[in-house]
Amino acid sequence: MTRRFRIENLCCQGCAAMIEDKILGLPGVSVASINMDARVLTIEDDGLLALDSIRVITTSVEPDTTVTILDLDAPSGSRGGNNEDDDGSTGARSEIVSIVTAGLLFAFAHSFGGRFAHFLGGRGELALYWAAYAVSAYPVLRKASRTLFSRNFLNEFFLMSFASLAAIAIGEFPEAISVMLFYRLGEFFQDLAAERSSRSIRSLVEGKPATARVVRGESAEPTEMSPKDVRKGDVVLVKPGEKIPVDGVLRSGVSRIDKSSLTGESLPVSALPGDAVFGGTVNMDGLISIEASGGYEDSSVARIMEMVESAVAHKSPTERFITTFARYYTPAVVFAATLVAVVPPLLSMGTFSQWLYRALILLVVSCPCALVISIPLGYFGGIGAASRNGILVKGGNVFDALKFTDSVFFDKTGTLTRGVFEVARTSPAKGVTSEELGQAAFFAESISNHLLARSINAEFAQSDTIRTPSECRVSVSGREEPGRGVVADVTGQDGGSWIIIAGNETLLNENGIAIAADTDDSGGTVVHVASNGRYLGRITVSDMVRQDSAAAVKEIRDCGIDNVYMLSGDREVVASSVARELGLTGFRAELMPDEKASALRELALDPGRAVFVGDGANDAPVLATAGVGIAMGGLGSELAIEISDAVILDDSPRKVAALFRIAAFTRKVVWQNIIAAMGIKMLFIGLGVVGIAGLWEAIFADVGVALLAVLNAARTAKA
Ligand code: ADP
Ligand code: MG
Repeated sequence: MTRRFRIENLCCQGCAAMIEDKILGLPGVSVASINMDARVLTIEDDGLLALDSIRVITTSVEPDTTVTILDLDAPSGSRGGNNEDDDGSTGARSEIVSIVTAGLLFAFAHSFGGRFAHFLGGRGELALYWAAYAVSAYPVLRKASRTLFSRNFLNEFFLMSFASLAAIAIGEFPEAISVMLFYRLGEFFQDLAAERSSRSIRSLVEGKPATARVVRGESAEPTEMSPKDVRKGDVVLVKPGEKIPVDGVLRSGVSRIDKSSLTGESLPVSALPGDAVFGGTVNMDGLISIEASGGYEDSSVARIMEMVESAVAHKSPTERFITTFARYYTPAVVFAATLVAVVPPLLSMGTFSQWLYRALILLVVSCPCALVISIPLGYFGGIGAASRNGILVKGGNVFDALKFTDSVFFDKTGTLTRGVFEVARTSPAKGVTSEELGQAAFFAESISNHLLARSINAEFAQSDTIRTPSECRVSVSGREEPGRGVVADVTGQDGGSWIIIAGNETLLNENGIAIAADTDDSGGTVVHVASNGRYLGRITVSDMVRQDSAAAVKEIRDCGIDNVYMLSGDREVVASSVARELGLTGFRAELMPDEKASALRELALDPGRAVFVGDGANDAPVLATAGVGIAMGGLGSELAIEISDAVILDDSPRKVAALFRIAAFTRKVVWQNIIAAMGIKMLFIGLGVVGIAGLWEAIFADVGVALLAVLNAARTAKA
């Protein structure tokens, strides 16, 4: 089972990686992942891991950490508890006071220290410096000392403490203090910026209304309650301008609904009684009442939030690389610093203190902070931007995979076409009436959830001559054959029973039923119907290509991906006319679910670099085979949504191109950060070793680039 915990006061990514490793080492744990921005620890285990054993691990790595079970209801923008925000800002305030005090003391000691030289038996100036150092370095020294005897002692606190104390030892007091001051100032602003942006990313995807006005039973007076206390069947009143608290069906009132929080579509859609409405969307004009289909937990917006929260647990290869890199980078630089301090003096190339000073520059730039903070934040922002555009991305790894995509495969029905079928023709076999044919199809299709079945039955339900199973007092059971049709058992009250098969030619042939040739095959999707082995005839239905499918294909080609294919379970004639209309690179038709996967392997050469977009249960194997599987969220089957890497909420195929653009932008920002941060570090290591840059220039540059990286990363959220 997957569980999530709020983890606080964790300040370095190295420690996070170490905690992840240790938890993974516990029995029964299969996934342990920490998201620093969301402050969430995600664990997948057998459900037996105790909170205390997690706490033992986190505090052994970083003593100040706290771990609490993540309450899904807690507003995720704040830190969970009610008064913790105050704690956060008092923490920030005392940090400012401490930094400013240290700064003033330092300025005073530096400017007027000389005049106090004769105090305290000639140590007056020194005492002032020590005071400034004590105030500026205390929290860092404290943290360093706490982890001094753990395996994680080589952390940024230790490096800063060691560098500053060593600077004091060689008589560079002002340098020692400025290292600490800049370091803390930088950390302070980084935290602030990271906190700000992760909060604003969260608020983008969050659509949680505060209260729900509910009418229950006979009482006419609505009561206000939390959306999570709403039950299925409650009537909820929503005023104009308010957020709809839960999913449900419109009962009375007419209004327009702004669905942008869910789908990214900014044009409001009108809603009439009987229409489904979704929690988190905004009621624009009228007073409406809705019948709740469940509480907040069951609503689409809650499920989306949950997906986004767990999305960050699926780290991208770039993120993983940086965490691993950080683990080797720091020890390597420390080793290099030791060499710089020791080797040149031994070769009589200068004094020991001169080279020690240069080595300290290496120490202060050895913290990979800029990368480890800004990179996860960049991906997190990208995921936020995608969900604001109506695309759920299930992990940062999707962005990396999209980078290498060279072909896109679409399903046909429900993906490139609307999935709304109209009956074009019913052609009964000889000796069968069209009522008999329609009636049999209606019974059989009543057990199917396929778009085709839903459309046919909606149309037949309007007809006067065709009756529902309950009107005829028959019960229908049976099975659905994905990509082929249905095999239904119809039993009457009088004991009579029929096996009705409705589906494509393959399904009927498999069941030993011969299909009469059609003299007028004008194309279209065909459902053949048979009852107890007797062929009853065919129903030809037609679907329409989505309005934006052509634009989607063009935009994908504009993203540099020329190969756009279609894989369909439908007949060759229908598939080829859609492929021609959209100008696709190629297509395959009449495919069984597993044949879709093998067709993709054949056409794509490298399936890892292919994207598949589909909606049906018959698309599950191919969604899993493709490097990135994208499901249509509105029409799509549960299975397709579950198995995919990303979900398009409003079913528009154009969102595939939007996702490519967001992925490219996210990766661009992330790599800008990697290159800038590494570049600055290398530059100052070089300048430091040859003696051009001093300690405080190095720390200033390092902290500065870290801050810029965090600010840059926040841009991904606005993609
Ligand atoms: P696509 O792969 O293009 O999305 P589908 O896989 O959804 O198409 O459907 C493939 C074919 O399987 C349909 O064209 C139809 O012939 C048949 N089929 C699938 N489900 C049903 C059903 N419930 N009733 C009748 N035919 C069905
Ligand atoms: Mg389909």
